[in-house]
Amino acid sequence: MIKIVNLKKSYFVNKKENVVLNNISLNLNDVGLVYILGASGSGKSTLLNILEGIDNKFEGEVYIDSKNIKKIKGNNKRKFFKNNVGIISQSSNLFEYLTVYQNLLLTCLIKGVNKSVIDEYLIKYKLDYVKNNKVSLLSGGEKQRLSLIRAIINKPKIIFSDEPTGALDKENASLLMEELYEISKSTLVIVVTHSLSIVNTFKGSVIKLCNGNISFKENLTINNNYKIIKKEEKEEDYSNLFIKESFKRNKSKNIITTISLFIGLLLIFLCFGLNEGFNSNFDNLYLNNINSNVLKIYKNDYEDINNGKLNVVKKTRPSIDNVNTFLSSFSNLNTYYNLDFYIQNKEIKINNVESKEYNLKFYFLDSNENNLYINDINKVNIESLSISINKSFTFYEPNLNIKSDEFFTFECTYYKFNIIKEFKYLNEPTIYFPYFYFLNYLENTLAKGISEKISKPVSFLDLVYLCSVDSEISSYSLYFSIDKKDIKSIRVLMNKINESNKPLYKIDSEYYFVVDSFIALMQALVLGIKMFMIVVVLCNLFLICFLTFSKLKKDKKEIAILRILGSNEEYINNIYINEGVIIYIISLSLSLLFYFLLRGLINKKLYDFFVIFNLIDISNNNFLLIISLSFVLIILSYICLLSFSKKFNIKEELKEE
Ligand code: ADP
Ligand code: MG
Repeated sequence: MIKIVNLKKSYFVNKKENVVLNNISLNLNDVGLVYILGASGSGKSTLLNILEGIDNKFEGEVYIDSKNIKKIKGNNKRKFFKNNVGIISQSSNLFEYLTVYQNLLLTCLIKGVNKSVIDEYLIKYKLDYVKNNKVSLLSGGEKQRLSLIRAIINKPKIIFSDEPTGALDKENASLLMEELYEISKSTLVIVVTHSLSIVNTFKGSVIKLCNGNISFKENLTINNNYKIIKKEEKEEDYSNLFIKESFKRNKSKNIITTISLFIGLLLIFLCFGLNEGFNSNFDNLYLNNINSNVLKIYKNDYEDINNGKLNVVKKTRPSIDNVNTFLSSFSNLNTYYNLDFYIQNKEIKINNVESKEYNLKFYFLDSNENNLYINDINKVNIESLSISINKSFTFYEPNLNIKSDEFFTFECTYYKFNIIKEFKYLNEPTIYFPYFYFLNYLENTLAKGISEKISKPVSFLDLVYLCSVDSEISSYSLYFSIDKKDIKSIRVLMNKINESNKPLYKIDSEYYFVVDSFIALMQALVLGIKMFMIVVVLCNLFLICFLTFSKLKKDKKEIAILRILGSNEEYINNIYINEGVIIYIISLSLSLLFYFLLRGLINKKLYDFFVIFNLIDISNNNFLLIISLSFVLIILSYICLLSFSKKFNIKEELKEE
């Protein structure tokens, strides 16, 4: 069965060669019990490691079943040893936190054995009464019997056993040896031992190692028939056996990973939400603004002083015709007189209490004249809001040579349901009330002084037409509105006019200024948040990698046991990836839950504060993108770390103390 030719094995410690096995040649029978004896340090374990396929660094040849074990590689090697070799070690190398049954089930799945045989073995080796106990609760003898079942359950051709009785009392030792002796009738059983009483009780061949050589052989009958290598069995994934216990074992690491991933994902959702919601709200910020399609236009009159060396610009009110011609590129242009002069002396009462902080401005929507807009609604619970304007002034128009004293009182009251919130950012507390309502009032109210003087009814609105463009009433400006709210063309127009040299007209819009600065602020904020998001992602990845790495390091021995049982690497990886997936799903669900809660809350606060709708919002596509990307990233980092676990040295991990 086993043929060893000129086997030489040395260790190099501090560049000094220590020859442990020196040109050993040996032939072993297909069946039977073979003892390997020798003083401590004589190379027994070293020899066994080579025969078990764990140690590949040796000179000479080793054939098992006529196969040169140096020449079988990778998956073939794993399957070869898995199917043909069983190993029992001194310290049983069992999964202490799994039950007896689970340990065997795991072995069956790895070795492709039908699990129905487990119970037979448990009864035969008197372990059925502890079937569902955790291995950590078993006695030394029970553990070794379990270890024995694990080694023989797929009926391998060879059993290697390195001091299997080393940790047992006499009674248990001889019980175990009885079983091995029984098995050796149909299998090659190689036992490393110190106990001469065992060697004398259970007769077998003996090989003694001394100074790297075989110093003594006994009963070594050679009868090689080269049994046919066992057919490959189907392997099955066992990783779910570990889920529960693995979670328990790595509780704090998993909790930290879950929390960190949860916070990370939540922040990413919020950042994305803010970025996306903000970008898509960009135009709405302008469009939803009450007067966003209304601009103020002045006319610049340039006066040359000092022979053209100095220019003085005088603002005057352009005529409506001028403006219409000038702005003819716009369709549906409406031009309005600026009536600011008439609303200077206002008194505002909120819930019947005078309030001085508010500005009064017009809005120009022709529908909805019954509404009042206010950009500061949170401060007070407004039940009613009344505006009264007492205007008295002296109308003087030198061209017409008319001077008269005029006076009017305008009053209006609005109630809760007609008071609407308006975007608030830098603009001072303002109440916007309907231009046309007031225009109508001016049109229908007589300026008594002048009417009497010229014996003709003249309304306050007429005074605006009558006055010259640079008089106080004219307010030096006109308003014009564009029916269609078209941010782009308004912007183009504003830039074109304002940037030309010596412009004849000047256009400005308080709303654009306010919204522009708001957008600039938000963009800076979003940029900051994006940077923060990158930091969060990196920190998260680092933390997850670190914790997974330390988990792997802690599980070094378990991984080594699985490898020595012949497990497919994929299933070892699955243990950790399953865990990662569960952690990810929990974190994702938590973060989604909190995202939706926070989104609702923050959007409401932002609405209350700025009157912006859905500033945090993620499209379904981006949701999917974030989820799949983060999932792939997590799994990738797991896979990278798992590939690192291939460096673990099985021999070192399973070394007997
Ligand atoms: P034993 O017969 O007691 O099982 P071993 O086969 O474990 O002996 O070890 C044989 C010799 O090889 C010992 O002198 C030991 O110190 C040495 N040795 C074993 N493993 C290593 C190693 N990984 N590196 C260096 N020396 C080693
Ligand atoms: Mg040893």
